[in-house]
Amino acid sequence: MSEAIGFRNVRKSFRRRGGELPVIDGADFALARGEFVSVLGPSGCGKSTLLNMAAGFETADSGEVLAGGAPVTGPDHTRGVVFQQYAVFPWLTVADNIAFGLRLAACGIPRDRHAAIVERYIGLMGLRGFENAYPKELSGGMRQRVAIARAYAPGPELLLMDEPFAALDAQTRESMQELLHDIQLTERRTVMLITHSVEEALFLSHRVVVMTPRPSRVSEIVPVGIPFPRTPETRLSPEFIG
Ligand code: ADP
Ligand code: MG
Repeated sequence: MSEAIGFRNVRKSFRRRGGELPVIDGADFALARGEFVSVLGPSGCGKSTLLNMAAGFETADSGEVLAGGAPVTGPDHTRGVVFQQYAVFPWLTVADNIAFGLRLAACGIPRDRHAAIVERYIGLMGLRGFENAYPKELSGGMRQRVAIARAYAPGPELLLMDEPFAALDAQTRESMQELLHDIQLTERRTVMLITHSVEEALFLSHRVVVMTPRPSRVSEIVPVGIPFPRTPETRLSPEFIG
């Protein structure tokens, strides 16, 4: 099975007043194409650092980060990112936020297909009727729907999500987890999801990485019961987990 993102003996420290802060002390794992992997671990252990290296926002001190077998040298349209908040452009409408990545030349999707793609994600993310709204007119949950739609729309192989639901209330979070689960049943992208919630990780993932306090070594990814490749029939219900 081919690899969507791979870490090969990756180390990362941050320079700080008073010396070095070693954060990642050897990350050695890979996500297969189409696989959904969650990353759990205590605050400050380096989860975002790991994701930022996959996104190309941070570089490793040593080792290699490979996307589709090629070294990651910076952010590009093959990897979509969703953050906890501030992830949508306040000056753009919902439709224009979703179209944003499509309009970047590097994306390579012809212009005459953009409207149909935006329309598809408006539908999938339950945003119909909000096409011309601005983010400030939306609830936090709706804004995250826009952020997720914007990440999926240009068709990236890999989606990197850094605690996308952490700022939402419990009920909204649950409906967003359902939505992400259902989107993945049709889209089947590779997802690396950072979360604080064990329930969320078990509900959504094929495998889970549990990081130790820093400096973290990351090598073992534990299968969590949802067979890979996943089919709709293998869905775990929230009742089963909770
Ligand atoms: P997590 O996402 O697991 O909470 P992070 O990856 O954000 O952890 O951070 C890991 C550690 O690295 C923390 O101690 C954090 O303060 C530190 N850190 C993260 N980014 C930087 C940076 N750009 N400069 C200095 N220290 C950083
Ligand atoms: Mg973090």
